[in-house]
Amino acid sequence: MKSYLLPQFAVYRDDDKCIRCKVCVRQCSFGVHAYDDEDDEIRSNESACVGCQRCATLCPTGALVIRQHPHEFRPNANWSEEMLLDVKRKAETGAVTITGMGNDKPHRVYWDHLLLNASQVTNPSIDPLREPMELRTFLGRKPDGLVFKDGRLITDMPPQVMIETPIIFSAMSYGAISYQAQLAFMQAAQELGTLCNTGEGGWPMDFRRFGRNVIVQCASGRFGVDPDYLNQAAIVEIKIGQGAKPGIGGHLPGEKVTAAVAATRMIPEGTDALSPAPQHDIYSIEDLSMLIYALKEATNYEKPISVKIAAVHNAAAIASGMVRAGADIIAVDGFRGGTGAAPRVIRDNVGIPTELALAAIDERLRREGIRNRASILVAGGFRNSADIIKAIALGADAVYIGTAALVAMGCTLCQQCNTGKCAWGITAQDPYIAKRLNPDIATRRLVNLVRAWTLEIKEMLGGMGINSIESLRGNRLHLRGIGLQEWELEVLGVKGAGQ
Ligand code: SF4
Ligand code: SF4
Repeated sequence: MKSYLLPQFAVYRDDDKCIRCKVCVRQCSFGVHAYDDEDDEIRSNESACVGCQRCATLCPTGALVIRQHPHEFRPNANWSEEMLLDVKRKAETGAVTITGMGNDKPHRVYWDHLLLNASQVTNPSIDPLREPMELRTFLGRKPDGLVFKDGRLITDMPPQVMIETPIIFSAMSYGAISYQAQLAFMQAAQELGTLCNTGEGGWPMDFRRFGRNVIVQCASGRFGVDPDYLNQAAIVEIKIGQGAKPGIGGHLPGEKVTAAVAATRMIPEGTDALSPAPQHDIYSIEDLSMLIYALKEATNYEKPISVKIAAVHNAAAIASGMVRAGADIIAVDGFRGGTGAAPRVIRDNVGIPTELALAAIDERLRREGIRNRASILVAGGFRNSADIIKAIALGADAVYIGTAALVAMGCTLCQQCNTGKCAWGITAQDPYIAKRLNPDIATRRLVNLVRAWTLEIKEMLGGMGINSIESLRGNRLHLRGIGLQEWELEVLGVKGAGQ
């Protein structure tokens, strides 16, 4: 069947600059460029281009420019080009449209409508270059009160995990990302004194040496879960939902299930790895409590147990139930969270912004007097250090970063993660493509990003006259809304600018 889909990107090659080195031919994992030796010419099949910019980035003479294709449909307020193409694509395949990365719709980004405070006159600001600034964060349940006897603390402290910066690397499974990418996350987390999350794809044996810096997931597919997996990690996270695809399970295509991925997931090589939509042993808060305590039992009550949900309409009530069920950490993932593969219709239409879910959860737990019983981790589209510090002021203990971390490694948000052909080697399983990602260079880039954001967070804290991140947590007096409606200010629990 002839495809009616027009190319999305146009390839412009400056023939005067092109030296026929064929770097683009070798680097494009989507097969766009081909060398014609009869004519000594490089030709491009634009319809295969996904706009990943790998060729333009690596072209030694800067001969290539990849642009959005200039073709134009007749303007129609109801039918955008994206909608037309999606109908045509389905008419050709009869299949659900699968995509990677997070929701790219122009919904309101609340971080951009929140402004931070700064000290003036009465509460002097602090210079973080001259005075200590405490960003250490302890994750896990805190006791309801502290009891001292003869000057000594006798309260039994629930297990805590200390991180040096409130920035953690999000859950990304081996299989969805390459071995090299997961190694980079583990090395970076160790160097930074923070955590990374294995996602639901198991945990390669040779990465278990990073255990103090690793959160392992127990998800609906239970891939790779055994006592060693649970006990070697710092935190165990029960994954109920994911911001990019709330309410549905996961699907790692058989092509990405190599021998190593299969061994790690404990499934046969080459078979699709299907994570069921629900956890089949959880149909109520009581069921969740049983799994939380089963995991606590299996880890000798030495590890905080986290429960991760997607940000949905009644997230606050669900979070309250999760805390009462025994969760030591609540992780909430908003609808801008990334994914290796999700139906586009789910990614773009289900869930709510993480900012609103976070504010509602923190407020509800405080109102019910149980905020101390769980830390809150929040995920879903953090783009800079200002987003992070605003999240802390809205009530987060720490944030998960995923997309930003991938961008630091080279990702250009081309949304092709599900194809296994990531030209940057990040989400590829083909060894030829995956080895493009040098784990040590990727580690350096991740460490640099988090260090830079951490320094910026210290600057912003100092400007507010605060020398400890603890003092900002949930302190919404340091936030003001701008350009927001009354109901939005109410959900966020902040005043309008000037008030
Ligand atoms: S490398 Fe990426 S941007 Fe370049 S032609 Fe191939 S798909 Fe397009
Ligand atoms: S990880 Fe790779 S395939 Fe996925 S969006 Fe980024 S560059 Fe594209």
